[in-house]
Amino acid sequence: MKEISSLSQVFALLHWDEDTMMPERGIDSRAEQAEALSGIIHEKIVSRSLGESLRALSADSSKLSEGERVCVREWLRDHDRSVKLPEKLVRELSSTATLSRKAWMEASRASDFAIFAPWLGKTVELKRRQAECLGYSGVPYDALLDDYEPHMTVAELDPIMENLRAGLVPLVAAIADSGVKNDLRALSLRYPAEKQEIVAREVMSAMGVDSTASRLDRSAHPFCSGISPTDVRITTRYNEKLFTSSLYGVIHESGHALYELGLPGEHARTPLAEAVSLGIHESQSRFWENVVGRSLPFVSWMMPKLKKLFPRQLRGIGAASFYRAINAVRPTSIRVEADEVTYNLHVVLRYEIEKALISGEAEVSGLPSLWNDKMREYLGIEPEDDASGVLQDIHWPSGLFGYFPTYSLGNLYSAQWWHRIRRDVSGVDKMIARGDFKPILSWLRSNIHSQGRRYPASELVVKATGRPLDAGHFICYLNEKYGDIYGVRM
Ligand code: MG
Repeated sequence: MKEISSLSQVFALLHWDEDTMMPERGIDSRAEQAEALSGIIHEKIVSRSLGESLRALSADSSKLSEGERVCVREWLRDHDRSVKLPEKLVRELSSTATLSRKAWMEASRASDFAIFAPWLGKTVELKRRQAECLGYSGVPYDALLDDYEPHMTVAELDPIMENLRAGLVPLVAAIADSGVKNDLRALSLRYPAEKQEIVAREVMSAMGVDSTASRLDRSAHPFCSGISPTDVRITTRYNEKLFTSSLYGVIHESGHALYELGLPGEHARTPLAEAVSLGIHESQSRFWENVVGRSLPFVSWMMPKLKKLFPRQLRGIGAASFYRAINAVRPTSIRVEADEVTYNLHVVLRYEIEKALISGEAEVSGLPSLWNDKMREYLGIEPEDDASGVLQDIHWPSGLFGYFPTYSLGNLYSAQWWHRIRRDVSGVDKMIARGDFKPILSWLRSNIHSQGRRYPASELVVKATGRPLDAGHFICYLNEKYGDIYGVRM
C-alpha cells in the first residue's frame, strides 16, 4: 500500500508539472506517462492477494493497534471501490470525458448547449452505470457523492442544503433591497504582478505555510497539490486589474496547503496521513479565505503592508472601506466570481440539477431552461446566454457528478469550526489583528489535520465541535457579518 501511495504521489507530480512547468509540446508524451502509471496503480490496488490479506487482517484485528485498524479499514474501502469498477467502464468514462470536454469547449465558444447535450447525456448514463457497480443504500447519487464525501448520503445532505437555501434566499434579497453600495473603485486599479507576489508570499508565511516544504508557482487555474506532508505545491494567477482575486486565491490555496502539511508525517503514505474528504479539505481553504481572510481584523493587519506596496492605488482607503469592498455582495451568473453570500446558491442549484439528472427526474434537453428558472428564483438574475449559464463549469464535461456539494459543505464546516474556535481560543479577533495565527492553526492541527482519515467527516465534525453538521452556524455567521455591512437584520 505504501508503494501504491508513492506511485500516486508521482502521478500527482506529473499533473503539477503539466500545469506549471511542462512545455506545450510535452502533452502527448505526458498523456502516455500518465496512462501507463495509472494502469500500474490500478493493477496493484485491485490485486486479489492484496484484497485477501486486507480481509484477513480485518477479520482478526485484535492484534492490530487502533491506527493499524484504521489503515486496514480505509485500504479495504479503496480496494473494494476499485474492484467494483470494471476496467471497460473506467476506460469508457475516461475517453468520454476527453471527448465531452472537447464538445463542451466548442459549445461554450458558440454558447450553444445543443452541441454539448449528447455528451452530457452519455456521461449521465455512464455515471448511472458507475453507481450501479459501486452500490448504494439509498439512491444512485449516493454512490457518486461517496467518491468525494465518503459516507455522505442524499438523505443526510438534502435537509442541510434545503436549510442553506432557505436561509440564503431572504438574505440575498434583503441585501439587494438595502440600497447600500460599496465603493469598489480601488480594487480595479492596476496592481503589478511582481508586487502581488510579494504580498502573496508574505501572507502565506504569516499563515504558517512552511516555505521549506512548499512552493508557490503560476498556472492558468489555481490549485493545491499535496504530494506528501513535507512537499505541498500551490499555484495562482496574477490578474493585474483584479488583485484581490489572486490575493484571496493564494489564501484559499494556502488553507488547503496547511491541511496537507498538517497531516501527521510519521504516518506518511497511509490513510492516517490522508485528507478525509473534499468537503473537509474545502473547509480549510474557505475558513482561511473567507472567515479569517475577509474579516475586519485580518484586513486591519494586512492594510499597512498593502499600503506600503501599493501607496498610489490605495491612497485614502482605510481598512474599513477595504473590508466593505472585498465583501460586496452582487449576484452574478458566474459561480467562481460569486461572493460569500450568493456562492452557495450556485452550488444548491447544481446539486439539485445533477441529482435530478442521475435519478431521471430531469432531462438533459431541458437543462438550460431549468437552470435559468432556478437562477431567477434563487438569485433574482438570469444568465445572458448558455456560456455564462449552464455551460460555465468543467465538472459535468469531466464526469464529476457529486463534486459540487463539497464546495458548500466546506463553507458550512468552516463556519462550524469558527463557532467552536471562538469559544476555545479567547481573544481570537485580537490575535488575527496582530497577525498571530498560531492559536488558530494549532486548533485546526489538533482537531482536523492530525486526524487524517481516522474518522468519517460526520464523526470528525462531532468530535471537533460537539455537534453534527448543520447549516445554522453558517447562516448565523453570514447574517451577523452582512447584517452589519448592509444594515439589514435577519
Ligand atoms: Mg479549493
